[in-house]
Amino acid sequence: MSIVHPDSGITRDRSYGKRSWKGVTFSVVDTGGIVENPVDPVVHKMQAQVRIALDESSTLLFLVDLKDGVTPADKVIADQLRSLAKRIILVGTKADNPQLELAKSDLYELGLGEPVAISALHNRGVEDLLDEIAKDLPALSEGHLEEAAVVKVAIVGRPNVGKSSLINALIGEERVIVDEQPGTTRDTVDVMLTRNKKLYLFADTAGLRRKARIRREVEHFSIAQALRSIKRCDLAIMMLDATAGIVEQDCRIAGFIKDQGKGVIIALNKWDLIEDKRVSTKRLKDELALKLRFAPYAPLITISAATKQRIFKLFDLINEVFSESQKRISTSEFNEHLQRWLSDKPPPTSRGRKSKILFGTQVEVQPPNFILFTNDRNLLHFSYLRYLENQIRSDFGFKGVPIRIELRNRR
Ligand code: GDP
Repeated sequence: MSIVHPDSGITRDRSYGKRSWKGVTFSVVDTGGIVENPVDPVVHKMQAQVRIALDESSTLLFLVDLKDGVTPADKVIADQLRSLAKRIILVGTKADNPQLELAKSDLYELGLGEPVAISALHNRGVEDLLDEIAKDLPALSEGHLEEAAVVKVAIVGRPNVGKSSLINALIGEERVIVDEQPGTTRDTVDVMLTRNKKLYLFADTAGLRRKARIRREVEHFSIAQALRSIKRCDLAIMMLDATAGIVEQDCRIAGFIKDQGKGVIIALNKWDLIEDKRVSTKRLKDELALKLRFAPYAPLITISAATKQRIFKLFDLINEVFSESQKRISTSEFNEHLQRWLSDKPPPTSRGRKSKILFGTQVEVQPPNFILFTNDRNLLHFSYLRYLENQIRSDFGFKGVPIRIELRNRR
């Protein structure tokens, strides 16, 4: 939980984190802070996102700096929070020494009950705070977010494929948080959407602001932005213009998504412009199979950001790929299947020696990583690993998710 921020003043980055404590899982939203009567447009925007965060949370932590004591603004905010009729935990921060810890008794005047004093600097009081948060949480969760997880999605693709149009179409919804990075070269925003009580964060999304830059700059920017956004995401939507072909730059981005171990969905946009849909589907599928490294496992969806056709189907795919990326196959089940794959098609003999796979296990999720123990890892050919990957997919799925297979020697 980011409770302490090194700069004084306002924390502009809002971050979402997930935390488990004594069997209770919750997500924490760090808002940018509450400001009375904002004048600055950036601050004004932030206040809108604070309101949404307040609305979506079941418990509010109100942080008051013990060094400053209770200010008139704190009193106004305390009244506002009380009117929301939610559970409020009053937190006195920066209780870095015994005097400051005592100062927490000043906070009683806010009428929000007993304060918890914490010192993030000395890591004191944090456990008490977690206890307090976890208390009663399951009972309060009804009607709030179904899952604490936020699915982080990157929308990537070349300029003009329709990324901004897609995000704008999704934003037709009212429950959206737009987090701009003000006054920097980062001409991007984080967009948070809720849909069916799930949270989605579209990270580092360009658009919403029009791009008035020279062409070359835009091209350069879009790659750097795509890479950054892919690193932060759980899965990427690789957007392509159905009326255009796949070029080198698409392949680069595709390779990066795979190398980063991220899930992927291929969205063919501008489908409204395609006349013969059947012929185009075949042509595009062939081209994807030829050029894109994840074509065999990535789900494909045709959409139109302009007419909104199927854009909400995208959420079903996002949920599916996300849950596939989290899937864990038990070692016993995996080995049952493995033995069958091995007997259906035994590993070929190499350099006069027989290679053997003894057993395997999934050691990681997101991306799923399997370790196979063999008598000699140098004997197993790449094509045999591909066979195994295909078997894993046909028995266990992992739609949209890259699979890693590692070999280890074992006598
Ligand atoms: P970005 O650079 O990837 O963000 O692309 P934009 O969203 O700015 O879209 C580039 C152009 O394509 C704009 O003129 C859009 O109006 C147009 N466009 C985007 N999506 C669609 C679509 O689904 N159908 C059609 N016909 N035009 C689209």
